[in-house]
Amino acid sequence: MKVLEIKQDMYKFDDTDFQPHGGGQPADRGKIKSKSFEGNVLDVTKEDSKIWHKIEITKGELKKGDEVKAEIDMPRRMKLTKMHTGEHILFKALQTFLPDLELDKIRLDEDESSLFVIMPNLDWDVAFKAEELANKIIFENKEVILHKVLKEKANEFKGLRIKAERIKEPEIKVIEIKDFDFSACTGTHCKTTKEIGSLIITHLRSSGPGKYELRFKVDNLKEFLEFSKLSRQGMDILGTERDKFIVTLNNLKENYEKFKKQAREATINQEIEKEEFNGIEFYFHIFEDADKKQLTDKANSVMKENTYVAFVNKTEKGNQLLLFGKKAGDLMQTLLKELNGRGGGKDRFAMGQFDKTAEELISRTKRLIA
Ligand SMILES: [Zn+2]
Repeated sequence: MKVLEIKQDMYKFDDTDFQPHGGGQPADRGKIKSKSFEGNVLDVTKEDSKIWHKIEITKGELKKGDEVKAEIDMPRRMKLTKMHTGEHILFKALQTFLPDLELDKIRLDEDESSLFVIMPNLDWDVAFKAEELANKIIFENKEVILHKVLKEKANEFKGLRIKAERIKEPEIKVIEIKDFDFSACTGTHCKTTKEIGSLIITHLRSSGPGKYELRFKVDNLKEFLEFSKLSRQGMDILGTERDKFIVTLNNLKENYEKFKKQAREATINQEIEKEEFNGIEFYFHIFEDADKKQLTDKANSVMKENTYVAFVNKTEKGNQLLLFGKKAGDLMQTLLKELNGRGGGKDRFAMGQFDKTAEELISRTKRLIA
């Protein structure tokens, strides 16, 4: 092929097999070569039916009229082609169970791709059904047919998915997965569905209000086995059978949340110590992993005009001193300086992190107040 036009690092040739990016499919990569030139194709874009190649030169230079050879990275193209065809099938499979489902966007990659959809609610139950249907379509080895038709004839395809406003050319390409789906698309696709191998949904999560991201892989039975290993290990750890696995796991989670709450309440209902000197009431206590909000409520419940409360909260990160009372901020500043801590505070509440024992923090605070 011959160089026709050059714009900075962008090159146009008289002919090209490089697939430009579009419809969520990244552009082909590869090399452009001649006897005296070598460059890597980093991106390919289509602008007003002109195809531009962004080239990183590694040897020589390229001038208008030069003859070159293209080497497309075919293994990568093949992976993206499988991903893309898999994406058509997965979307249609989801829509089969959720007719109101809409496409937000897609992001195809060699290893793992994402399908972003708009739907108020999407859970694993329906994702599994769609995954099963998608694999059924793949195993049935359906033909994938490319139709080139005029834009105004698009409505002849029943249920065609098309973003007509985005298509500038008079002719459109419709990808048909036989007896299953029609979608207007310019990417590369397999010839039959069996080429995709398999499809597995690897993640399902909310990507915003009423939006979900489904990540998936194709041609990857190893991934199925990995997930299967995890669930079998999980069943073994829980000592449960397959039919009870999810119920047991849910019960466990519920119980864990319940006990965590109970443990917190038990912490917070602990009796706290009190001493009185010079008309000051000094309350103190050492907690483990308590919630700051609960400690504040607890302190407020005993707070009077001449009251000080010192709570030490033992956490993973070290001992935290929470100080409540009139001059809490000033007292904390002194403690931070003397005991080399980090923190600060205002008039009635201050907090500091110290590398000292809880008992020492309490006794130092008491000494300061007394
Ligand atoms: Zn496509």
